[in-house]
Amino acid sequence: MHQAMLSEKLADSRVRCHICQWRCCIGQDRFGVCGMYQNQGGDLYNLNYAIASSVAADPIEKKPLFHFFPGSLAFSVGSLGCNFHCKHCQNWEISSVDEKTMWRGCRELPPEEAIKIAKQYRCQGISWTYNEPTIWFEYTLDCAKLAKESGLYTVYVTNGYATPEALDTIGPYLDAWRVDIKGFSDAFYRGLAKVPKWREILAVAKRAKDKWQMHIEVVTNVIPTMNDDDEQLEGIASWIKNELGELTPWHVTRFYPHHYLMHLPSTPVATLEHAGEIGRQAGLKFIYVGNVPGHKSESTVCFACGKPVVQRFGYQTEVVGLEDSRCKFCGAGLNFRTLEVKGGRHG
Ligand code: SF4
Repeated sequence: MHQAMLSEKLADSRVRCHICQWRCCIGQDRFGVCGMYQNQGGDLYNLNYAIASSVAADPIEKKPLFHFFPGSLAFSVGSLGCNFHCKHCQNWEISSVDEKTMWRGCRELPPEEAIKIAKQYRCQGISWTYNEPTIWFEYTLDCAKLAKESGLYTVYVTNGYATPEALDTIGPYLDAWRVDIKGFSDAFYRGLAKVPKWREILAVAKRAKDKWQMHIEVVTNVIPTMNDDDEQLEGIASWIKNELGELTPWHVTRFYPHHYLMHLPSTPVATLEHAGEIGRQAGLKFIYVGNVPGHKSESTVCFACGKPVVQRFGYQTEVVGLEDSRCKFCGAGLNFRTLEVKGGRHG
């Protein structure tokens, strides 16, 4: 248990949490929406500090991040709980917590040990993933500070629901913001994740890029009948182009029936390719169809000269045409991070 940052004491021993956009107002002994912050005696505590449910050395492409240290390994750590309750959650065993089984299978992983293991596994960076990083915010912040001292890159794989204050607190130590933009309507976010207000996700992602120079990649899991309409896909693609820039990678990934959405079919590949076409029409230069192994869009092709610069098959990656962030054949800027991270050059 760890005292929470970004909390505000209110009348009657209530406390408000400012870590994510729910900004929960929590009474004595009660929990926030995520289940991982509790009011104890009028102070807010985080319950899962350094409690890891899942740990692995993953290819960075698995996050997915395609323009960020391609071919590298990211030490990937997840905990328990989530501030969203998505009907199709792939990791619902760890995101939906139940008081009786809550800590089963978890291990303690203090920040110093996480960094040490990342180095032992020859990872070039650390990623908070599998569940939402903001709901063990203090832990990710402590790890990120140590990671920077050790020359590791740092990545949030996030639903983007952090507050601007949380972003600004971790911003100096975070290199990449791999954010979901799950859909583009109030009805969709409410229906899928029980989130009534979602638009600040966009503002926070833009702030991560503009204020903190983070590398941004966007993922949209395209779910039949829920967010596969042109209106939402055009909304997402245009927003990325206009606010994050045409070189921002957009991953349109295949949905597979899961959790509470077992009744829906997998996304047809043609739908994902149509989403890609919508992205191209909007002006995006890098669109990747995800969860379809062997799809032709897995590799990165220079938009200017048409030559392949990074070849991928599943999680096998070969860099064939990059010089830093540029195409080595024609010199076009391709928005890759390969050398520089916060705190100096990588490694
Ligand atoms: S992290 Fe979000 S969901 Fe959890 S208590 Fe804080 S504001 Fe509520």
